[in-house]
Amino acid sequence: MSFQNLGLSETVLHGAQRMGYSEPTPIQLRAIPVILSGRDLIASAQTGTGKTAAFALPVLCKLDHPERKIRCLVLEPTRELAMQVETAFRDYMRFMHTEVTLIHGGVGYGKQKDDLSRKVDVVVATPGRLLDHMQQGAVDLSALEFLILDEVDRMLDMGFLPDVRRIVEQCPKTRQTLLFSATIPEEIGRLASWCLKDPEKIEIGAHRTPAETVNHALYPVAVAQKFELLLALLARTNFDSVLIFSRTKDGADRIARELKKNNHSVVALHSNRTQTERVEALEGFKAGRYEVMVATDIAARGIDIAGVSHVINYDVPQHPEDYVHRIGRTGRAQNVGDAFTIMTAEELPHIKDIERFIGQSVPRLKLDNFSYVYTAIFNEAEAAAALKSAKGVRTHKGMRFGSKRRK
Ligand code: AMP
Repeated sequence: MSFQNLGLSETVLHGAQRMGYSEPTPIQLRAIPVILSGRDLIASAQTGTGKTAAFALPVLCKLDHPERKIRCLVLEPTRELAMQVETAFRDYMRFMHTEVTLIHGGVGYGKQKDDLSRKVDVVVATPGRLLDHMQQGAVDLSALEFLILDEVDRMLDMGFLPDVRRIVEQCPKTRQTLLFSATIPEEIGRLASWCLKDPEKIEIGAHRTPAETVNHALYPVAVAQKFELLLALLARTNFDSVLIFSRTKDGADRIARELKKNNHSVVALHSNRTQTERVEALEGFKAGRYEVMVATDIAARGIDIAGVSHVINYDVPQHPEDYVHRIGRTGRAQNVGDAFTIMTAEELPHIKDIERFIGQSVPRLKLDNFSYVYTAIFNEAEAAAALKSAKGVRTHKGMRFGSKRRK
């Protein structure tokens, strides 16, 4: 099945071809006809599956002639995703006169107000800032035809669902609504039954499974040697670009600082950085100015960074879904990627949760010629038992299983 047979307009097809797309991805094959038929849609698909084009291409076919009224609104959970989706719209629209604008927090209101008053056709926004503009009367949604709620599970995690509801309340009832979410827990199901009409449901792949093109492995180590192991992994890995995940913002800054001292070109991305810094970090990493980016989970969902050859989890993610999202940053669009997770004995319970979630065990690897000060962590039964009894006594730093002191 080719793009030509999906019923897309010539101009949109042309835009997709210019992007180098020759064949539709599975989500595109299934979603495009549904959207063109005018039906509401709930779709769950892994990120990296081509879901932006799955909604943008058919919607753009219906916005062929510019009217300078907001006819399509896309809500995204993070600024980075909003930027990425706006760029995708611009790319697909390159042979059209339709206009798109981007609305998100962290930057001034002036230009955004101007853009909104110019009456663009498509708005890609994060919920908080859009609501601000709406409350100031700067947004006219009366001509809205398409409402796209993207990465809704992430919006739920970030506490945005009440804002999303407030926005949906202001949208005309005659609109077509498309909802994309990796998982559909109860809250999202409730939102969907309130804001969608008789939706078609599409599920692509098992969203619990990491992409098949990712090789993933665990590297157990003592807490005190985590950074040393990270350096050793970087030194022995033939990488193009590495995305390192840290659980905390401070941790991300610390890792970035230490890597810099070790002569790596590195940048940090997290929500305490200014918008300008976030854009610079992402652009710099994409352009290859930095070989390493250290990020919190803000970068884990949906951000499309071509050519990330390796993902390293400096901390084990506490939510199993985040593991899938984080390692999904590599191996996108059928490229092969490697994902390493540095793991301490204390993190063993999280690993077990992840393995249950993804339905497979992740291989434990030992780095050759690395001077492990403590190797009992490779015996997990023993590690788990020791951790349990240690927890019963006290849990402060000195008792951390895996530190030299307990040897
Ligand atoms: P997404 O899941 O929307 O973030 O897309 C992931 C990546 O796949 C992006 O770099 C898209 O440009 C790319 N992509 C989307 N559709 C296709 C296609 N049909 N053929 C090749 N690449 C695609």
